[in-house]
Amino acid sequence: MPHSSIPKSVTIIGASVSGLTLGLTLKKYGIQPRFFELRDPDYHFGGAVSLTPNGLRVLESIGAYSRIKDQGYNFEAITFMTDPEHEITGRLYFGKQDTYGYDGMRITRKVLNHELTEMAKEAGIEIFYGKKFTKLIHEDCNSDDVVFEFADGTQEKAELLIGADGIYSKVRSSIFPDISPDYSGHMAITYSFPHTLMDDSIKEDLPLPVSLRGKQGSFILSPQAKDGKELLIGRQLKYEQKLHFRWDPLMQDKQKLVDIIQQDPHPNLWSPLVQDAQAKVTHPETDFLHVWPFYTVPKMSRWHSSTGKVVILGDSAHAVPPPAGQGANQALEDGYSFAMLLANLNSDNLNNRMSLSDALTAWEAYRMERMEKVLELTNRVLTIRMTDEERASVSEHMRWDEIDGSDAGKSELGWLYLVDIDSDIKSVIETLHK
Ligand SMILES: Cc1cc2nc3c(=O)[nH]c(=O)nc-3n(C[C@H](O)[C@H](O)[C@H](O)COP(=O)(O)OP(=O)(O)OC[C@H]3O[C@@H](n4cnc5c(N)ncnc54)[C@H](O)[C@@H]3O)c2cc1C
Repeated sequence: MPHSSIPKSVTIIGASVSGLTLGLTLKKYGIQPRFFELRDPDYHFGGAVSLTPNGLRVLESIGAYSRIKDQGYNFEAITFMTDPEHEITGRLYFGKQDTYGYDGMRITRKVLNHELTEMAKEAGIEIFYGKKFTKLIHEDCNSDDVVFEFADGTQEKAELLIGADGIYSKVRSSIFPDISPDYSGHMAITYSFPHTLMDDSIKEDLPLPVSLRGKQGSFILSPQAKDGKELLIGRQLKYEQKLHFRWDPLMQDKQKLVDIIQQDPHPNLWSPLVQDAQAKVTHPETDFLHVWPFYTVPKMSRWHSSTGKVVILGDSAHAVPPPAGQGANQALEDGYSFAMLLANLNSDNLNNRMSLSDALTAWEAYRMERMEKVLELTNRVLTIRMTDEERASVSEHMRWDEIDGSDAGKSELGWLYLVDIDSDIKSVIETLHK
């Protein structure tokens, strides 16, 4: 018999984007969350994320948007161009105020996590740091609690346990030991430096952010952080040798990373702008040389354990590579939509009539359908940055040559950016009444 009652408290492993969004929303609706987090409270998150209107709307709903809105770089679209010719091949909108309600925003992960964590503290939510979840001890349908263990050997109990612990989720491997992320054969190396270091005379009035495709892959140049004061440079390339997501030796080999950024078989293959960006990888003010292997968590049939007492969400359930900038945005959608599901079930008193497992299955169907479309979009954007040779090996329906720039790409992106999660969750709940 599946577990049937709606929990009054929820334990979340991982205090980052998906988990904190879930916790803050649950608290608002009277369900008490608490967190166990591997990191220390003063851990320095590197890098930045692009937030799109779907994610920003979630942040607005939980009261976080006003706290971050002046701390990022706002922009509408990334322009795709050839290099060195600088011919425009398309634009991908990350937002547009009058079409989608918000411009896109590029914000450091440090700021985003800091604000969400501060909000959790202000709401009186407990976060226990330095606690590494290692395994489930038991979850059985006849008892109320899930029991689990940490690396320090201590154990805890939870009514409902959520794995919001990222792409290498231990909670996921406890309930689905056969699932592990797949490497796509592509990766990006990113770094950033103060925007003022870029020589204006070689920018040729290029629209920023810009993705420049040459014969050897692509370079991305994107302002980020408050007022765009940092310039992110990313080189996307094919890299057949399998890279481990977090601790591959390549990540420690700074000289090799510099060589990859600067490698080019012919001189002057790239425009002076890209050559300048390549040279600046060794500038003393350049920060955070980061390797990002493109991994995807394979499609799963469910994101909950057989009893329905353990659930995974965010990157743990469906990490996608970065080209369409949806990882964090989908983590926000997950956290918020799952909390709204529990909140609505509570107020509906549905638990008297049906199981939490049914509700979980209905929520997953809704989220999985969106994630399938997000993955398709991600793969299509990835192809725009491939070399001609690589693109030739991709089937035509998976390629994207031109992006619809009219009406801010609404015909292609409206389903993603104009989502109304509150109303979608009401529809999910209605299906449970049928
Ligand atoms: C450099 C960089 C740039 C990115 N840029 C973008 C972008 O432009 N747009 C975008 O949408 N996405 C981007 N992403 C991806 C985005 O950050 C993730 O998709 C998003 O953070 C997923 O959120 P999450 O809460 O599911 O997982 P995570 O943010 O990965 O958080 C997982 C949390 O769980 C904790 N944890 C892990 N294991 C354990 C354990 N065993 N026990 C306890 N705690 C544990 C971790 O410390 C962490 O706090 C980027 C990621 C990186 C690294």
